[in-house]
Amino acid sequence: MVRCECGRYFGSSLKKIVNCPRCNSNKNHKIMKKFSSSESLRNQISKANTPSEIENEITSRLETYEKPNRDTGLIGKELIGKILATSTFNENIISIDSISNSIKELSLTKISPEDIIEILEASSLVVRNSNGTWTVFQ
Ligand SMILES: [Zn+2]
Repeated sequence: MVRCECGRYFGSSLKKIVNCPRCNSNKNHKIMKKFSSSESLRNQISKANTPSEIENEITSRLETYEKPNRDTGLIGKELIGKILATSTFNENIISIDSISNSIKELSLTKISPEDIIEILEASSLVVRNSNGTWTVFQ
């Protein structure tokens, strides 16, 4: 896992230099940690790219929807699930616009559609299409 100068974490191999998915730079990448399996690499990247501020936002928002004493490990996934459920239109497609609408529906204030997409991409839950939409894996 490497960290770009823009702050984005992503996977990279020692043999091949990969451009940053956020700023497209291939310079000043700092090696943070090495992984032997791609699965643990993916998990770590997804954690590293989820700012704690978003997690707090998710936690506090969900307290108004859900009763307390739930397993906190599920909270992020549940909110992501709600956003996906309200923003997905035909054939499991989502877009910045549809995510933006569900963020409004769920009254989230500190999270942007771009943040959601980043979390989804980092968790390998969506794949980017060429026309500015994303396909959701179910
Ligand atoms: Zn970058």
